[in-house]
Amino acid sequence: MAGKKVLIVYAHQEPKSFNGSLLKIAVEELTKQGCSVTVSDLYAMQFEPRATRNDIVGHLHNPEAFNYGVETWEAYKRGGLSKDLVEEQKKVQEADLLIFQFPLFWFNMPAILKGWMDRVLVQGFAYDLSKVYDGGLLQGKLSLFSFTTGASQEMYSKEGISGDIRYVLWPMQHGIMHFCGVKVLEPHICYAPENVSEEKRKEMLVAWSQRLKTLWKEEPIDCSPEWYFK
Ligand SMILES: Cc1cc2nc3c(=O)[nH]c(=O)nc-3n(C[C@H](O)[C@H](O)[C@H](O)COP(=O)(O)OP(=O)(O)OC[C@H]3O[C@@H](n4cnc5c(N)ncnc54)[C@H](O)[C@@H]3O)c2cc1C
Repeated sequence: MAGKKVLIVYAHQEPKSFNGSLLKIAVEELTKQGCSVTVSDLYAMQFEPRATRNDIVGHLHNPEAFNYGVETWEAYKRGGLSKDLVEEQKKVQEADLLIFQFPLFWFNMPAILKGWMDRVLVQGFAYDLSKVYDGGLLQGKLSLFSFTTGASQEMYSKEGISGDIRYVLWPMQHGIMHFCGVKVLEPHICYAPENVSEEKRKEMLVAWSQRLKTLWKEEPIDCSPEWYFK
């Protein structure tokens, strides 16, 4: 939809990968719609995933015993977070929609993307003492987790050996995005692109492009335990 701002946080090392193709499609389709699209290409940026003392510029609140959560909260309040964090927070602040594009690593997002969550979504910016879940500080935004897997859809069913894919989504969608007040759209999952035919891969790419055409008409999911564990 024209005028909307989208931030795509992308975690894959290889532009020619299937994730790289999904990213390219999203940038092209959303740009065509008149959206302003920003990409944080984490590996290309050599984004620092570790949450350390280096994230605080200048003095510490308590130099005797380092507490990352407290120090980043205090630093945020006095404008003392490192430049890379301030830049990412600005992108988040401006975005109407956050898309996370990545391959599933150990039932989770790759460490570089988890590091982005750990470091960017600090207290005071994304949530605060009693400002969590529907009261989170990033209210008014949408998010969408778009990822690929190595395993098949059958393996990620309730009866499958890996269990329902929704169990994997609980910490990401509910524990992070919903916690910060961000509404969650249905995830977009491309199962096992390495193991399917070229034709099937093309179909999956077309399906993503098609979905993006009507994305702004979608209603967020009901991000409650029932959605994940019913
Ligand atoms: C550390 C680690 C942990 C992992 N943990 C898990 C896990 O817990 N669960 C799980 O299910 N999987 C897991 N995996 C597997 C991982 O999720 C998959 O390898 C990954 O999702 C595949 O996506 P990709 O983009 O890297 O695929 P790629 O290998 O890049 O792409 C697949 C194929 O698509 C082709 N392709 C790319 N673009 C196009 C295009 N435009 N048109 C047609 N074909 C194209 C590529 O050439 C390639 O042949 C893990 C992998 C690693 C390395």
